[in-house]
Amino acid sequence: MPHTAPPIALTIAGSDSGGGAGIQADLKTFHARGVHGLSVIAAITSQNTRGVSAVHTVPLAHIRSQLEAVFDDFPIGAVKTGMLGSAAVTRLVARELRRRRPAWLVVDPVMISTSGARLLDEDAVQAMVDQLIPLADILTPNLPEAEALLGRKLRKPEQFDKAGEALLGLGARAVLLKGGHSQEREVVDRFYDERGVLELRYPRLPLEGHGTGCTLASAIAAELAKGQAPRAAVRRAVAYVHRALERSYRPGGGPVHVLGH
Ligand code: PLP
Repeated sequence: MPHTAPPIALTIAGSDSGGGAGIQADLKTFHARGVHGLSVIAAITSQNTRGVSAVHTVPLAHIRSQLEAVFDDFPIGAVKTGMLGSAAVTRLVARELRRRRPAWLVVDPVMISTSGARLLDEDAVQAMVDQLIPLADILTPNLPEAEALLGRKLRKPEQFDKAGEALLGLGARAVLLKGGHSQEREVVDRFYDERGVLELRYPRLPLEGHGTGCTLASAIAAELAKGQAPRAAVRRAVAYVHRALERSYRPGGGPVHVLGH
């Protein structure tokens, strides 16, 4: 007798051959959080702990057929988008999601890796703002991504609440502004929705966690797929990433730590 299927979540993102970020982090996170993971691969990076040496964007027709394959068969509880690579892919994914209307959509506006590689063409930021972000239930920018989306620098924590409001103004139902890149002593993630701001504070660990953002966005999607409301999903996901960071390790010769589970 087959068992009852767990909730199902889908990641639409890029592959990291080093297994630390992207699709690989998302699927590991889905599994760790008790959901069945589906993946639509939008880009393939050649990558290890030292950096990204090449990026291949998957042909649009094949991204479309992967989307058709997963949406035609599975009851998808939540979708997460990550590295999309180009404006054309961003537009295609937005168009398909507008048509398919998943119950929940988490948009991680991936632009540049911690190691410095461009993961989204510069001209794709506008497509993300115009087409994808208005569909998002939760948008999860880090500070550099928030700056790129808003077109202004965010230097001081006093500026963050205004930025959160401005990001909500782009049309996402809620925004998680991640504080990992700020100069604050603690890491403060700020969640903005129609109820105001929720601050999640954690001690700053002395390491750079490769794949942290991907893991957080997919953990949020997993919690939404399991039936949690957005605030509870974000609380649980942030706590999960913090626990995973405490168990991170260095699998290769490079400087980057990968999240452990
Ligand atoms: N590679 C892929 C495919 C990604 O999607 C991402 C981030 O989203 C990265 C690399 C960068 O990860 P990090 O900035 O955590 O090193």
